[in-house]
Amino acid sequence: MVTGAGGFIGHHLVARLKQQGCWVRGVDIKVPVYEPTAADEYEVLDLRRWADCLQAARGVEACYNLAANMGGIGFITEYKAEIMRDSVLINTHMLEAARLNGVQKFLFTSSACVYPQGRQNLPDVTPLKEEDAYPADAEDGYGWEKLFSERMCRHYYEDYSLRTYVVRFHNIYGPLGTYDGGREKSPAAICRKIALARDGDEIEVWGDGRQTRSYCYIDDCVEGMGRLMQTEEHDPINLGSDRLVTIDELIDIVAAIAGKRVVKRYDLTKPQGVRGRNSDNVKLRRVLGWEPQVTLEEGLAKTYRWIRGELVKAGRVHEEATTLRRRDR
Ligand code: NAD
Repeated sequence: MVTGAGGFIGHHLVARLKQQGCWVRGVDIKVPVYEPTAADEYEVLDLRRWADCLQAARGVEACYNLAANMGGIGFITEYKAEIMRDSVLINTHMLEAARLNGVQKFLFTSSACVYPQGRQNLPDVTPLKEEDAYPADAEDGYGWEKLFSERMCRHYYEDYSLRTYVVRFHNIYGPLGTYDGGREKSPAAICRKIALARDGDEIEVWGDGRQTRSYCYIDDCVEGMGRLMQTEEHDPINLGSDRLVTIDELIDIVAAIAGKRVVKRYDLTKPQGVRGRNSDNVKLRRVLGWEPQVTLEEGLAKTYRWIRGELVKAGRVHEEATTLRRRDR
């Protein structure tokens, strides 16, 4: 059973589990936006509600709990109370519902946002190891809720022998992810802005472009989750790429894929998150005997093509440059 099956990662995970021959129930508060689910059974439920969680977890061997009220840096900076309230309800109820239903394995999708702010003040960061999460000073709101739910998983494993798994994702991107409307993450937002721009146009960049991140392609993300569920590793583990790039470099890669020159206009008033963040993959390599394989160039090319295709379908790529720039803000 996959919660968040109507969202970006959940939708891809359902498809992967089906390819592997599993019977899959997908659950979400909405149906997938861009293409139909591959799930055998799909239920629209509100997992903030206890009764809906009990229904979702009935009769299954494994729960992949991905449902969350979340978005990119703009969204998580603005809606802290809503994010914490919804996600703490979903995660607490889902753990207990899984236990009562006799579920064997439970995977929780945490985030690099659990790491302390103080370790991420410079663009040239030391990659974050799993144990660096403590002493805790997580991203306010979203990150603290993830850290709390990680601890709940740990205690359900220790006290009730529910085999819990915790992955800390580092910026997952790819086709079928949100690319517009305020919840999108930086790779999707940049692909959209460049797809909408004409050669030589200006695009708005949040921050000074020198903040750094690492980005992991969706196929590697679902592969990593599948591998982790075959282990007995019950402590949190990073799942991300360890190739650090600046936002400027990310834009240059997408612009090269698009075959366009773009002028960057930096907006320092917009939220930027931490200054720099990278994944330390020593534990990932040791536990899974594997690490993400898809290069940023390959992954962004697929993502850019998909986002551009959606914008073509919506009739948005042929508008006048001035209108585009206004909408892009
Ligand atoms: P997403 O927003 O595309 O998917 C989340 C899904 O949860 C959505 O489809 C949403 O409708 C559903 N949901 C929200 N509230 C619900 C409710 N009350 N009941 C039922 N369903 C509900 O996000 P995603 O990128 O696919 O993220 C999946 C998980 O991975 C989340 O837990 C997220 O915090 C975590 N994560 C993602 C990233 C990333 O880069 N995408 C990074 C770190 C962690």
